[in-house]
Amino acid sequence: MKKIDIVSATPELLKSPFSGSIMKRALDKGLVDINFHDLKDYSISNNKQIDDYQFGGGAGMVLMIEPINNCVNFLKKQNEYSEIIYMTPDAPVLTQKICNKLSISGNLIIICGHYKGIDQRVRDNIITMEISIGDYVLSGGELPAAILCDSIVRLIPGVLNDGTSALTDSFQDNLLAPPVYTRPSTFHNLKVPDILISGNKNKIETWREEKSIEKTERIRPDLLKK
Ligand code: SAH
Repeated sequence: MKKIDIVSATPELLKSPFSGSIMKRALDKGLVDINFHDLKDYSISNNKQIDDYQFGGGAGMVLMIEPINNCVNFLKKQNEYSEIIYMTPDAPVLTQKICNKLSISGNLIIICGHYKGIDQRVRDNIITMEISIGDYVLSGGELPAAILCDSIVRLIPGVLNDGTSALTDSFQDNLLAPPVYTRPSTFHNLKVPDILISGNKNKIETWREEKSIEKTERIRPDLLKK
């Protein structure tokens, strides 16, 4: 079973994304094992210090190397890990391709930063991979870590009731997903496209492909160049 260990200064922020829906089901079914680790438990000082002012001056606290190093070493004594990931805005942006790769990799450690970030020596010597969730800055790595976990966990076989569902989502073919509709087929004067209720599977497939391409050309032409 895949193990994901998330290291954080505020692990209470991680709880809710894992406590419902698909992620909870995956955990309950034992398809993945996700644990949170509080950096304060790995502090080397009596007052549980985990961050300090940055050398050279300037605003913002920086997470120290010792607690992170202690925590990672503790985890590595118990398990083998494929990647030790740091969530950070100054890194390559997460893509479906990365999610696919990480979903079939081995165990993962995910490190969440906060305030000004983490000591560069952690990034240079302990981390094996860095991921951003987009070109904007959040106050901590917990939401990004939860996003990364969700994107990986839903791809693990058995997690989604219909495994093929993930394959028809956006980005799997460098295309955005086609529009979807459900009952009622007519709402006031708003009708569902006739083709979708025609029962003709081939025509529906072709329609969906056309809509996907049309939508991608309009909203994300960059994807078609890949
Ligand atoms: N000083 C840093 C930002 C620190 S934000 C800079 O300017 O690049 C505090 C923490 O939030 C980071 O350490 C990181 O773990 C997390 N974080 C913020 N934005 C993020 C993003 N877009 N992707 C991934 N993690 C992010």
